[in-house]
Amino acid sequence: SRKPLIAANWKMYKTPAQAQEFVSAFLPLVAGHDRDEIVLCPSDTSLAAVIPAVAGSNIAVGGQNMHFADEGAYTGETSPLMLNAIGATHILIGHSERRQYFNETDEMVNKKLATALKHKLTPIVCIGEVLAEREAGHTDEVLRKQITLALTGVTPEDAEAIVVAYEPVWAIGTGKTATPEMAAEAHLLIRSEIARRLGRNIADSIRILYGGSVKPDNATALLNQPEIDGALVGGASLDPNSFAKIVKY
Ligand code: 13P
Repeated sequence: SRKPLIAANWKMYKTPAQAQEFVSAFLPLVAGHDRDEIVLCPSDTSLAAVIPAVAGSNIAVGGQNMHFADEGAYTGETSPLMLNAIGATHILIGHSERRQYFNETDEMVNKKLATALKHKLTPIVCIGEVLAEREAGHTDEVLRKQITLALTGVTPEDAEAIVVAYEPVWAIGTGKTATPEMAAEAHLLIRSEIARRLGRNIADSIRILYGGSVKPDNATALLNQPEIDGALVGGASLDPNSFAKIVKY
């Protein structure tokens, strides 16, 4: 009953021309594929190329980051109003690379989540433990803390729109995936924490995606786990054939 969502995070790759080339190749590969929701998250400079290119198709488009203010003197930032105006419908929030390299805190993630909900952008909130935390046996505690801080102040009515992405940081871009069982265990913990805060019905309706070295050859095993409601794909989403294979796992 939770419709799977497969999202591409292109990170800082692809010029507008390259993004358009991807879309031209990708559209026919997934035409009519309605089992899953498909979302492309290009860099901000490619949004204006990708959005009209997918118009009328089964593909939605999201940003990779935004500011929590509607507008203001914030050099280099993109606002939710700008994303809305251009036709983006989704937004990645708190990706581990934002946390790691741009000092995003749980507090900022929380503000961005509130802003996304206010402006009806579907938030994809990213959480996940780093290797040292997993090895120290702190994974559960880290995930509970991240999800709790992200959801602070969110009402059950608003929460239904939220998508969570579990991305163990040690699995991102490393070729090391969590095993399907490991991922499912983390998803179960995240869902129970959401249930504790917002109620079982909401927790059961929220989609939790897995991210971290998802490839065509491991997508099926991961996505067949009942707790895994989709994937957030980096490297393998840059190639239209690979990403189409993942979408059609
Ligand atoms: P990779 O698929 O390249 O490991 O990246 C995962 C990711 O960070 C998606 O947001």
